[in-house]
Amino acid sequence: MPSQPFTATVLGSPRIGPHRELKRAIEGYWAGRTTRADLESVAADLRRQTWAGLSLAGLDSVPVNTFSLYDQMLDTAALLGALPPRVAGIADDLDRYFASARGTEDVAPLEMTKWFDTNYHYIVPEIATETTFTLNPGKVLAELKEAQQQGIAARPVIIGPMTFLALSKPVDGAGAPIARLSELIPLYIQLLSLLAEAGAAWVQLDEPVLVTDILDNGPELAERTYAELGTHPDRPAIFVATYFGGLDASLSALARTPIEAIGIDLVAGDDPAAVPELAGKTLVAGIVDGRNVWRTDLEAALGRLGTLSDAAHTVAVSTSCSTMHVPYSLAAETDIDDRLRTWLSFGAEKVTEVVTLARTLHGGRDTVALAVEASNAAISSRAADPRLHNGHLRTRIDSIVASGSRRGSTEVRRASQAARLNLPPLPTTTIGSYPQTSTIRKARAGLRSGEIDAGEYNRIMRAEIADVIALQEELGLDVLVHGEPERNDMVQYFAEQLDGFFATTNGWVQSYGTRCVRPPILYGDVSRPHPMTVDWATYAQSLTGKPVKGMLTGPVTILAWSFVRDDQPLADTANQIALAIRDETVDLESAGIAIIQVDEPALRELLPLRSKDKADYLAWAVAAFRLATSGVVDATQIHTHLCYSEFGEVIGAIADLDADVTSIEAARSHMEVLDDLNAIGFANSVGPGVYDIHSPRVPAADEMAELLRSALKAVPAERLWVNPDCGLKTRGSSEVKGALHNLVIAAARVRAEG
Ligand code: GLN
Ligand code: ZN
Repeated sequence: MPSQPFTATVLGSPRIGPHRELKRAIEGYWAGRTTRADLESVAADLRRQTWAGLSLAGLDSVPVNTFSLYDQMLDTAALLGALPPRVAGIADDLDRYFASARGTEDVAPLEMTKWFDTNYHYIVPEIATETTFTLNPGKVLAELKEAQQQGIAARPVIIGPMTFLALSKPVDGAGAPIARLSELIPLYIQLLSLLAEAGAAWVQLDEPVLVTDILDNGPELAERTYAELGTHPDRPAIFVATYFGGLDASLSALARTPIEAIGIDLVAGDDPAAVPELAGKTLVAGIVDGRNVWRTDLEAALGRLGTLSDAAHTVAVSTSCSTMHVPYSLAAETDIDDRLRTWLSFGAEKVTEVVTLARTLHGGRDTVALAVEASNAAISSRAADPRLHNGHLRTRIDSIVASGSRRGSTEVRRASQAARLNLPPLPTTTIGSYPQTSTIRKARAGLRSGEIDAGEYNRIMRAEIADVIALQEELGLDVLVHGEPERNDMVQYFAEQLDGFFATTNGWVQSYGTRCVRPPILYGDVSRPHPMTVDWATYAQSLTGKPVKGMLTGPVTILAWSFVRDDQPLADTANQIALAIRDETVDLESAGIAIIQVDEPALRELLPLRSKDKADYLAWAVAAFRLATSGVVDATQIHTHLCYSEFGEVIGAIADLDADVTSIEAARSHMEVLDDLNAIGFANSVGPGVYDIHSPRVPAADEMAELLRSALKAVPAERLWVNPDCGLKTRGSSEVKGALHNLVIAAARVRAEG
């Protein structure tokens, strides 16, 4: 078992393919266009390329089994025999796996949720009382063998038993899955001996749950679990990796166990000076940011690494987490200005940084001095760039913040809006987007490729808006929207128009399964060179006598779905975005728009992992929203929209946003959120979704009327709005038409009862 310590590694790497090859292969397989053998050969090629790249760059330990055809939590469920029983009837193992993730005609998929505070979504395993764990090590053993045959110093990576259980969901009345930990330990012991037998010198067990407050007794459980796994003699050296935050008490707990290496996140969490003595162990220092795109300040990093060398036997250099959260390589970006390019580091560049740091730490090389010099030059160029320090903008924000981002009282606003808008009780509306038709997608592609010009694109979008307005008039909705045809994405649309953002051409990262996103890079001070939505909104308004809602994305959501500069507090950046949005609301108002919605679906997403940090975050998030929405007069109605369920922890903040109307996902949770809002004295209007837009099903009018009646028990009619759960862009046109038709009938029915 005593294995040579390693000195340079990453915790995992992108897997979707530098040009999304895996996405295409998997979707081809789903559609029946390609065979399983084709898919497997694309996957094997990608693994081979990835390992060769990491090895060649100089890592002396290379993670394997971080590859996945869908998701690493789902892979772990398969490894532990914990796929849901409802897929057991599917004969083919690969189809069974995909059915768990995506469902079939007959089988509901597992749920999906955010992986800690990243934008990656994992599949949530279900643990029932009947679940019996069994070991299916086929995938990890096969990948290990593949890598070994390629001559790679392979280190299998497996999600640890604590994290696996803590992130799984109890079903059918079962208790918290973590209670089943003692059943998993023997399976992990068995797995460790299989890996040892197969020649693995090291194994990485990922336990990011230890940087959160999810488990009450995390440190104690960690100590027990790893004492037990570590005592077993017949195993590879164990490296417990943690990421996304600081370990606090779990660090010394792990230090007391016989494992050989502990990984800490020095970017998001631990202070190197506070690391305790780790006698005889390797400390894997996650010093290169694995989830953001900024170039590492090598000199500063070396300084921090230096303070660690007394604590551990060996200090290995690593990324702070898997680099699957950043794009593959800067090389694919041909359009970045030269200066910005030098400030960035994507997956491949981060590996080089790790190797440079490790070489310097373990003996130095001539080439390293040059790398440090280049890093210093980039860091100073970034610090000095005027695009990052717009004094005028900063003064403006300070003065608005100082004068208080406040509007009139709820009562005053309600009265002046009622007089201006003249809406019926239980007004009906939608959340913003209408189906993104093939006409829209084709026009967007055509504009990008130069096939059509901006004038033609504009004409097509206006025709779409006119259709959507006509449809809403025909359906009899009360507050209309323009339908968002011009938005590829609710964040990217704004990022492309604001100064301070850069939109990549190939910066894809996996969001879930085969879905990839291209988060914009927020590198500088954010400002708005020109209005962004006013033309579309006023055009839509010109077509109808009913009010059209202006539609904007809020500052927190723009932050959450971008790569954000790391040289100033997030709160400051949020305020800059807020100011741009505020200017837009004022322009919309001047153009005659009476209702403006500022979406904050990501409000909950940026919530810190540790409870102690939450209040501070919510305070600045709310302040940014209020900065964005307090520039308008009391007669202009501000809406916001929130989704992705589970509002419990942010319910107070939702009230503090003080929007006049809050539309909120509620259909699946039967309006429970209304009681929570009442409990904290929420007095503004609310539109709990009465129709789950995640499913193609067209709900009957009766069903929605019933939801409205139950909502009326919690909220009086003059404060209740009627709307779907979320935007309609992923739905088909005929479903949407049917569902909204029924929604309007439901509202009319319940109004008549009132
Ligand atoms: N206005 C956006 C839409 O309707 C809101 C989307 C969201 O909440 N994610 O698409
Ligand atoms: Zn939504």
